[in-house]
Amino acid sequence: MNKKDHYDIAIIGAGIAGTALAYKLASYSVKVLLLERSEDVGGGATKANSGIVHGGYAAKHGTLKSRLSLAGNIQFDDLSEQLGFPFNRCGSYVLAFNEEEEETLSQIRNNGRLNGVEGLEIIPGKELRRREHRISEEAAAALYSPGAGIVSPYEAAIAFAETAVKEGTDLCLHSEVQNIEQTGDGFSIGTSAGQFRASVVINAAGVFSGEISRMFGEENVEIIPKKGQYVVFQRGASRGLSSVIFQCPTPASKGILVTPTTWGNLLVGPDAQEIDDPLDRSTDFESIRHIIRTGLRSVPDINLNHAIRTYSGIRPMPANRDFIIRKGAVPGSYQAAGIESPGLTAAPAIADMLIEMLKEDGVISAGASSPPERREPITMPGPLQPFQDIKEQVNYDPGNPQRIVCRCEQVREATIMDALSRPIPVDSMDAVKRRTRAGMGGCQGAFCGPRVKKILEEHLEAKHSASGEPISAHKSDPELLKQIRKMNS
Ligand SMILES: Cc1cc2nc3c(=O)[nH]c(=O)nc-3n(C[C@H](O)[C@H](O)[C@H](O)COP(=O)(O)OP(=O)(O)OC[C@H]3O[C@@H](n4cnc5c(N)ncnc54)[C@H](O)[C@@H]3O)c2cc1C
Repeated sequence: MNKKDHYDIAIIGAGIAGTALAYKLASYSVKVLLLERSEDVGGGATKANSGIVHGGYAAKHGTLKSRLSLAGNIQFDDLSEQLGFPFNRCGSYVLAFNEEEEETLSQIRNNGRLNGVEGLEIIPGKELRRREHRISEEAAAALYSPGAGIVSPYEAAIAFAETAVKEGTDLCLHSEVQNIEQTGDGFSIGTSAGQFRASVVINAAGVFSGEISRMFGEENVEIIPKKGQYVVFQRGASRGLSSVIFQCPTPASKGILVTPTTWGNLLVGPDAQEIDDPLDRSTDFESIRHIIRTGLRSVPDINLNHAIRTYSGIRPMPANRDFIIRKGAVPGSYQAAGIESPGLTAAPAIADMLIEMLKEDGVISAGASSPPERREPITMPGPLQPFQDIKEQVNYDPGNPQRIVCRCEQVREATIMDALSRPIPVDSMDAVKRRTRAGMGGCQGAFCGPRVKKILEEHLEAKHSASGEPISAHKSDPELLKQIRKMNS
């Protein structure tokens, strides 16, 4: 298929919503185009969140969020198995530190039961610490949700997109949608990479979904960018903590959590700040200090010397606080807008809901063909070896596939070559990092960065890639990390 043909469906935005939809559409006979403004899939809110597959108890009963978070949650075991991305149904606790919060736990549990969530139980502090010994003595009780889990969100988006592309979806990165016009047979979509045509357009543009709506002539989709910052602690820092630890929610957010990641790091965050610039991904010490102090209330023994980076993600908060998933005002347009939390959890179910609408409108036929083949993961979590056991492989000559390039995460050259040979083009250090973990460890790429860059340069040269020079990696502010470590004293 030639790119820039007339597509049946164009999806704007390759976050978790757009990629999950593209993946599910791969089972139907339709020509799909996935347009993404940044250099990689999952580059918006999808790469910078808590990575929690929520239990489904928190969203207010009766909302789309409540319905779709549970319907999405239950798909993750099969999806992670089929698509080879890290997921662990580890359960979660919401802590209560006083009587008022214990009352809140009952309300959350009751809401969860209305949502159809099973297995919710409130347990006393003593039982909580028997199960999770790192939790503070101050916690009086907790709401346990066995169905919650943790996922690597960007690896999920990569897996969805890669499989969709393998099955025939055209993915155009570096392609920012700038205008949309109605034509006799659908839409003409003007992007920074040229013009495309499609019968149907689906808006999954995250924090920019309000702008895309206005291009359709829908003025009333208001999306407020809300930033959340995090601190990441090195691999191993989650040892002794097996579940997600929330505090009671506030009106603004689900509160600060402490959680293991699928790769064994420890994550603390996020806060919630409304911002003007939807691309402002900065982090600052004042916010991070507040996050750490709040997190230490739940898990007091976090070693702040093990902090390795900070990051922030931008929530696409819809003004009415519920997902906007519906047919657009203009025939042939569809909205998957304002997908704030729990959008990662709900993404597979959001895709199902859109597919039902597309069927109803005759865009796709009722029956799906066979699902795509199982995808082999690029890498999956496993234990790290003691350094003396890998020393020899670290010293292999550059170019040897078995050479360990990244010592911290023990990534081989072969793994990087595998990532580069997959169907999604890779032209940035961050894209390599998200696929292989090279640069994710304690030294944050100080050792492996130059070699990874060289491999990527050679790859881009061999492909005569238009993008030429690899896009360099995002780095955390070293001063901020020093300030965090000083908080220990
Ligand atoms: C701090 C924080 C914590 C969160 N924690 C959780 C959690 O633990 N669990 C959970 O379930 N959910 C969580 N969420 C919510 C979850 O991250 C989002 O709901 C989800 O990632 C939204 O996916 P999306 O695809 O709609 O948006 P995005 O991931 O933002 O994707 C939209 C894509 O559209 C692209 N785009 C935008 N404009 C254009 C354009 N003009 N042309 C082409 N492409 C365009 C963007 O580059 C982007 O890649 C959290 C969110 C944040 C910010």
